[in-house]
Amino acid sequence: MQTDLRKRWPWTELIIATRNSNKVRELNALSERELGLPVAGLDRFSDVPEVVEDGDTFEENAIKKAETVSRFLNRPVVADDSGLVVPFLGGDPGVRSARYAGPEANDRKNNEKLLKELEGVTGQGRDAFYVCVLALKIPGEEPRLVRGECHGRIALEPRGDQGFGYDPLFFLPEYGKTMGEIPPELKNRISHRAKAFQGLIRLLREMYPPEGGGGI
Ligand code: IMP
Repeated sequence: MQTDLRKRWPWTELIIATRNSNKVRELNALSERELGLPVAGLDRFSDVPEVVEDGDTFEENAIKKAETVSRFLNRPVVADDSGLVVPFLGGDPGVRSARYAGPEANDRKNNEKLLKELEGVTGQGRDAFYVCVLALKIPGEEPRLVRGECHGRIALEPRGDQGFGYDPLFFLPEYGKTMGEIPPELKNRISHRAKAFQGLIRLLREMYPPEGGGGI
């Protein structure tokens, strides 16, 4: 359900500190649906400095990206840091999800490496969850964080061509399908990013309450 927050949020768009077109697409669908606000990714701006994602946690990386880009643009910025956590692998791929297979990594190579690491592993050893941390940085204010998780397990082979990253391997027991097999609208209701985005909306509603109170 769309809120009337867009009347109170003093900007015409939400800037997301990423060049990942998959993230921009998913966050734009969420933001348009929930806030009536379009999302602008970093491709819209020139000379924005690259941010090295060298933090040990999703939170550290999200804050670093949001702060660097917000300082550069002197505008409020949201950053997404996300990834896949497999407890059996000690939390890998974790914050290194995008580069799991090494410097030349791509989605296919990352998926192949994950399957290899889990060769012969059965049952709960294949449990996994996605994490998305969104950091909101408003100039002059401390960064604020929200987090969303989506739990499932790693399939034995890839299935489906929707989504991106590890989606063809991420099996959702409730649906009997991988994230790569479900339509984007469903992913955008149940994903880690959708859940974190709901947290962001709650945060924005607290920060920009309706005139005369009332809240949500
Ligand atoms: P980041 O750009 O450092 O946040 O890395 C995100 C990486 O985590 C992506 O490149 C994917 O490998 C993985 N990832 C994050 N979100 C998703 C998702 O929704 N589906 C599949 N893979 C994801």
